[in-house]
Amino acid sequence: MATTPMITVQQYFEYLREKKVMGAKCPKCGNIDLPPRRLCSECLAESEWMEFSGKGIIQTFTAIYVGAKVMTKKGYDRKHPYVFAVVKMEEGPSVSGQLVGIDERDPNTYYIGMPVEATFLKTEIRTDKEGNPVFRWDIGFQPVST
Ligand SMILES: [Zn+2]
Repeated sequence: MATTPMITVQQYFEYLREKKVMGAKCPKCGNIDLPPRRLCSECLAESEWMEFSGKGIIQTFTAIYVGAKVMTKKGYDRKHPYVFAVVKMEEGPSVSGQLVGIDERDPNTYYIGMPVEATFLKTEIRTDKEGNPVFRWDIGFQPVST
């Protein structure tokens, strides 16, 4: 039997790199956490990995015109904002992520209640000692393709 990796932040990002949205489910009370938590946020029992469908609904969003350095390096600025959304996943928990595949400058292209699906965004977070880029994979969201 294959051993299940422990619930860690590193493993969560590793799953995102594999294009999987993995949260945690508590075998004791049934609570679901995303991002995953090793100990259930409700009863502190040991949780288990649970794969999410990646589908959800936008609960709220904001357009960011003065962004973090990692985002300005991607080309976002006062003329090209990026959008962050809080998405209620169909499994229950809400998680935030960048909204892509829309026109950030046109708020008519995205709205509260809009169905979205997870996408996986690669961001250069720093360079290593040799000057090579180090990447992190984040959860993002895009309109559901019809
Ligand atoms: Zn629990």
